[in-house]
Amino acid sequence: MKVLKFGGTSVGSPERIKNLAELVQADESRIIVLSAMAGTTNALVEITDLLYKENNDLANEKISELETQYRKRIEELYTTEEYKSKGNELINSHFNYIRNFVYRSFTTLQEKAILAQGELISTAMFHYYLSEIGVNSTFLPALNFMRIDKDGEPDYFYIKENLERILSEESEHKLFITQGFICRNVYGEVDNLKRGGSDYTASLIGSVLQSEEVQIWTDIDGFHNNDPRYVENTSALKQLSFDEAAELAYFGAKIMHPSSIVPCKLNHVPVRLKNTLSPLDEGTLISDDSIGKGIKAIAAKDGITALKIKSGRMLLAYGFLRKVFEVFEIYKTPIDMITTSEVAVSLTIDDDSNLKEIESELVKYGNVEIDKDQSIICIVGDFISESAGSAKLVLEALEHIPLRMISYGGSLHNISVLVSKEDKVAALQALSNHLF
Ligand code: ADP
Ligand code: ASP
Ligand code: MG
Repeated sequence: MKVLKFGGTSVGSPERIKNLAELVQADESRIIVLSAMAGTTNALVEITDLLYKENNDLANEKISELETQYRKRIEELYTTEEYKSKGNELINSHFNYIRNFVYRSFTTLQEKAILAQGELISTAMFHYYLSEIGVNSTFLPALNFMRIDKDGEPDYFYIKENLERILSEESEHKLFITQGFICRNVYGEVDNLKRGGSDYTASLIGSVLQSEEVQIWTDIDGFHNNDPRYVENTSALKQLSFDEAAELAYFGAKIMHPSSIVPCKLNHVPVRLKNTLSPLDEGTLISDDSIGKGIKAIAAKDGITALKIKSGRMLLAYGFLRKVFEVFEIYKTPIDMITTSEVAVSLTIDDDSNLKEIESELVKYGNVEIDKDQSIICIVGDFISESAGSAKLVLEALEHIPLRMISYGGSLHNISVLVSKEDKVAALQALSNHLF
């Protein structure tokens, strides 16, 4: 069994959906994971924001705009009256459902239900299209097997049990279609795996089924050695190890959801990144092996807050770091980077929703300085052997950029620096120029 995930642009128009129908047909068993059509989840987020603000009239307008787009797509996608009418019924039912939430009190429960509509619509549209052109496929509703636990983490046991049971009931079929991104939570409510979560869905399915390969199909020819949105002359990598890819995804390489490598790494399921616009390209293979030495790729993550806790009493004071870390634990706030000196510790967080509370606890231990709008730049590679001098190369490249923190040695494949967000693009470009 292979798992193939197609992102928003790969299902972004009737034409792309038609191409996809060609791409997914094969002699092997496949589970196809689809995102919402490009732009839909953003539009649904905008609608839910308006509903939270009780701006119901404008929300209604936005709902109608999105509906009109879908009516047009239905017209273009299907040829027969039968399927045009099925498609229109589909759009009626989903948009009537969304309209139910207008002029009512609005909570996160309803928000999540609305955000799920994009994937529900795209998968149903694709399933109908395959059926119209005579290709047999089986629908696997993600809400019947994809589940997160009380901490928001995937419930591997539940996912495996249910997916295997459903598949065993459909054992004569080969081509399955399911939704990325959406799931149920521990209370059985509709929830999701966070923005970009369709990659995570594919990787979870691939992992619990011990799949032969997970393929992530998108609009670019693989994992690039730097962020192509900000840097010129980046190039696709042939291969990365799970650890290298996980580090890059976590630190901002948008091509993959930050958590999506972990499930495949745990079960040694290779991941291949492929380009829908150029399907014959090999793309990037992510596997257990780390091939090649030295610096391989760079990514950057914005929205970072740095905190410096300075204590006159830290000198030789054991227990200080434990007390500091406990504060972050209490507020369930992960720390990304840490640097220490004899008298101070600096660390970074990206979730600042409890910053005020954290600060008021930390001041008990020392003087606290906070810098917002920072970016972590993460340089990934194999720094174990023959690559002495990697840190020197990085620092040389960044000699004109003010560095707030530097972290090296935490793992064998990561050097991270913290810069002000304004310096991010210049830093990424300087690194590309100097290193590749
Ligand atoms: P999808 O909708 O298919 O999930 P995304 O937009 O989430 O696609 O991810 C693909 C995009 O990620 C690319 O178009 C590219 O702009 C961006 N990207 C950021 N960093 C990288 C990188 N290191 N390599 C490749 N693409 C990257
Ligand atoms: N549709 C969701 C999003 O836009 C999930 C995804 O595309 O991966 O975030
Ligand atoms: Mg994505």
